[in-house]
Amino acid sequence: MKISIAIDGPAAAGKSTVAKKIAQIKGYTYIDTGAMYRAFTWYCMEKGVDCQNEAACCALIPEVTIKLRPSGQVLCNDIDITREIREPRVSGNVSYIASYKDIRLFLVEQQRKMAAKHSVIMDGRDIGTYVLPNAEVKIFQIASVRTRAIRRYDENVEKGIPCTYEEIEEDVKKRDYIDSHRDFAPLRCAEDAITLDTSDMTVDEVVNAIIEIIDKKLAEMEGK
Ligand code: C5P
Repeated sequence: MKISIAIDGPAAAGKSTVAKKIAQIKGYTYIDTGAMYRAFTWYCMEKGVDCQNEAACCALIPEVTIKLRPSGQVLCNDIDITREIREPRVSGNVSYIASYKDIRLFLVEQQRKMAAKHSVIMDGRDIGTYVLPNAEVKIFQIASVRTRAIRRYDENVEKGIPCTYEEIEEDVKKRDYIDSHRDFAPLRCAEDAITLDTSDMTVDEVVNAIIEIIDKKLAEMEGK
């Protein structure tokens, strides 16, 4: 049975970590939509375009091809930028790029195509509200700013990405502000989403809680 799972929430809430695990356990395709906005941002920076110049960034749309490999690799115009898109310079600019409607429409079209073919678990900011409004399961994953900043800092240290805790906390707050205040498809909890505060939960606890919600939904769908 084909199913779509939407996981939205603020920056560094652990969405991708749990989504990847659930995808593996349930055999769904994982789609990291944040990686697509990051890849576009990387490309603008490579081209020396100011990320706060909407017209100049949107003009690059025709020359950008973004691929997400099942292995987790992210390619932009066939260049592997998996590591580069996690660097603080990209994180610091991605929310500007993600606020431009034309770039969102360009990436959302690809996200919807992927979801049309497979059972997906997709994480982002607007999946339940805009990209897949008919997703069978919608989760809004939250955690305190401190918890999120610590998690992201630890992740970066593990990946060898240089950063300070203060820098990460600032970045998380700034992105949340821009993401929730943009005009088009802002970060918002869908009316029919289940909110999960993961501040005091382990990754496995979050994974199990979401799988329980998915299994209940699948049983309901099978009964219909
Ligand atoms: O998920 P991640 O933190 O990697 O996303 C990076 C940025 O991409 C977010 O801060 C947000 O600006 C943007 N984004 C978005 N809509 C999505 C996914 C990500 O605006 N569906």
